[in-house]
Amino acid sequence: MKAEVILMKCPETGRIYGVRAEERHGDWFRTWAFPIDARRASSEGFDRNEIKGSLDYTEDYNGCPYCKTKRMVICSRCGKLSCWNNEERITCGWCGLTGDVLTTEGDISVKGGSY
Ligand SMILES: [Zn+2]
Ligand SMILES: [Zn+2]
Repeated sequence: MKAEVILMKCPETGRIYGVRAEERHGDWFRTWAFPIDARRASSEGFDRNEIKGSLDYTEDYNGCPYCKTKRMVICSRCGKLSCWNNEERITCGWCGLTGDVLTTEGDISVKGGSY
């Protein structure tokens, strides 16, 4: 089984966290989220991981360690993942883009990127 850790950011708290993603039947699923700081994520190489898939979450996915949401958005500008915890307004935790942030319909490609 292939597994990678990708990084997500919580716009409410401005903090990043790691999300373990597993490949199952040719698609990627989020299975576990855990708090992490930027320095450790970088030294582990999590910011360089790249995966492609629907990135749906599994039954036992625990959600964002800060705001508890399981939903996410991918940013149309920087291509990174953030929590989607606000019904009225979608915000990218990384670059601050609002409104025009894409949801995760269909396959997405995720790159960790820099901070
Ligand atoms: Zn969050
Ligand atoms: Zn962004």
